[in-house]
Amino acid sequence: MTEHIHDNCANLLGSLSEYIDGALSPELCQEIEKHLAGCENCRVVLNTTRRTIDLVHFPENQQTVPADVRERLFKRLSLDDYLNPKSE
Ligand SMILES: [Zn+2]
Repeated sequence: MTEHIHDNCANLLGSLSEYIDGALSPELCQEIEKHLAGCENCRVVLNTTRRTIDLVHFPENQQTVPADVRERLFKRLSLDDYLNPKSE
């Protein structure tokens, strides 16, 4: 039994990625949310971890952009001159 709320921090941070993935049971989620409500430190860690996961997952979507689409995008942005510099 944990009377001291901060005894839960190590436990919570250990299962944080599973909590974010939604891999924990509803009972455990409730326990974690109860702890988060009273522990700002763990809330900050949770937010930071979530943002880091978003950043890691984002480039996977970016890599699906085909080369010709990128080329058109460059041209639309008037970067054509940079791709084909005029010689003077
Ligand atoms: Zn905590």
